[in-house]
Amino acid sequence: MLKTRFAPSPTGLIHIGNMRTALFNALIAKHGKGIFLLRIEDTDPERSKDEFISHLAEDLRWLSLDWQEGLDVEGEYGPYRQSLRQEVYDKYYAQLEQQSLAYSCFCTDEQLKLSRKLQRAAGQPPRYDGRCARLSADEVAKKEAAGIAATLRFKIPPGQEVKFTDLVQGEKVFRTDDIGDLIIRRANGMPAFMFCNAIDDAMMHVTHALRGEDHITNTPRQILILQALGLDTPQYGHFSLISGSDGAPLSKRNGSQSIKDMRDQGYWPEAVLNYLARLGHYYPDNNFMTAAELGAKFEIEQLGRSPARYDPAQLNYWQKETFKHKTPEQVWQWMGEAVQQLVPADKKENFVELITPNILLPSEAHIWAERAFAQELLLSDEAKSALQGVDAQFFKHAVDAVEKHGLDYKAWVDYLKEHAGVKGKQLFQPLRVALMGTMHGPEMDKWVALVGDKDKIIRRLDRHSYRTA
Ligand code: GLU
Repeated sequence: MLKTRFAPSPTGLIHIGNMRTALFNALIAKHGKGIFLLRIEDTDPERSKDEFISHLAEDLRWLSLDWQEGLDVEGEYGPYRQSLRQEVYDKYYAQLEQQSLAYSCFCTDEQLKLSRKLQRAAGQPPRYDGRCARLSADEVAKKEAAGIAATLRFKIPPGQEVKFTDLVQGEKVFRTDDIGDLIIRRANGMPAFMFCNAIDDAMMHVTHALRGEDHITNTPRQILILQALGLDTPQYGHFSLISGSDGAPLSKRNGSQSIKDMRDQGYWPEAVLNYLARLGHYYPDNNFMTAAELGAKFEIEQLGRSPARYDPAQLNYWQKETFKHKTPEQVWQWMGEAVQQLVPADKKENFVELITPNILLPSEAHIWAERAFAQELLLSDEAKSALQGVDAQFFKHAVDAVEKHGLDYKAWVDYLKEHAGVKGKQLFQPLRVALMGTMHGPEMDKWVALVGDKDKIIRRLDRHSYRTA
C-alpha cells in the first residue's frame, strides 16, 4: 500500500514552502489511492509547541489535505508524536550498540569546532574524525564514571558507496568516506532528527518520502542507518526548493507567508492549492481543480528539478479564478462581518455581484462597502488630483441633474452634456471620482443604483461645487 507522509517539526507556523511538501505528499497519496500520514517531529522540547500542532492541523484541514493516519487518527503504528516514541528509539540504539555499530562520543563542542576548523584549513571537508571510536573500554568507563555526558554516534562504514534512485533526481551516489560518523542520540538522550525520522519512516511503513532537496545529503546517512538495522527504506524523492520573487531563497522578505496568515487574509483554500500544486509541478492543463482532481492528475515524474519561483501574481490569478466556483452566498460569507455590517440587507446581492470582479481579498470588499455605504467618502490621492482641474460649476449642474432625474445615471449624463457642455472623460471621470472616491471600479449606472440614496449622492457632488464659485 502506497504511503506518504508529512513530518513537520512544530516549532513555528507552516509557511508555503513546508505546505507545498505536505501538499505533494498528500497528492501522491490521493493519486495512488494510498495513505497520507501526519507525523509530528517534536523532539526538541524547547522549540516544539502544542499551539503549532493545532495550527498546522488546522492549515492542512483548511486545504482539504486530510490524513488517514497519524496525529489524532488511530493507526497501527502510533504514537505519531516523536516525543512519545522514545522506547522505540532506545530499542534501536541498544541494537546498534550491541552490533558495535554505534559508540559513545565525549567530544565537547569546542573540540569539535576546533577539529572542523583544522580540517577546513587543510582543505578537507569538515567531518567527525572518529576519535571517540578509538577509545578503549577502560577510557570509556572512566569518562562515564566522571559523569561526562556522551552523544551516541553511528559508525559510517568506510570505503563504500550508497546508491539510490531518487524519485525526482534519478540515480544518486554518495561515498561513505565523505561522511563522518553521525550523532544519532544527543547528550540529553533525545534522538537526533536524522535517526528518528528514518526509524519512523520504516516503522510506519512509509513507501514514498518526498521532501525538499535540502534533505538530500541526509538520505545516504538515513539509508545506512536503516540498512544496519535491517529495516526497510522508503523511496526518497527530493524536489527543488522555492525561491523568492527575486530569485533568492524564499524568506519573509521576498514573499514567504504563513498559511495561517493567508487564511486570515482571506485567500481561498482552492486558490492556495491550485497555486502550490503547480509550483514546481507541471500539469498539462491550466484548469481550476479541486484537491481530489489535483491528486488524480498528480505525477511524480512532473516534479521539477529547477528551482520554482514564488510568484504572487500567479497566486492572485488563482484567487480570481476561485470566485468563478463560488456562489454569491459563499462570497458574502467570505467577505466577513465588517462588510456585512456596512451593507444593508436589501443590497447584499447587488453588492456581491458588482464588487466581486474588483477584489481579491475581504479587506478590499470592506473598502468598497465603505465607499458605497459609509457617510463620508474618502478620496484617494489619485482621485483628489483628478478633481483638481474640474470647474465647480460642473458639480452644480450635476446636483441639478440628480435633483431632476433622481437615480437615473443615463439621464444625468444627457443633462450634463447639455448644461455643462462637457463630454467623454471630462464628464465621466469627475462624476466617478466624486461618487466612488477612486478612478476605477464598477460601471457607474450600477454603482449609483447600489449607493441608492439620492441625498447621499447630492451631498457627494455638492461638496465639490463651492471651491471656485
Ligand atoms: N521534520 C523534518 C522537517 O520538518 C522532516 C524532514 C523530512 O521530510 O524528512 O524538515
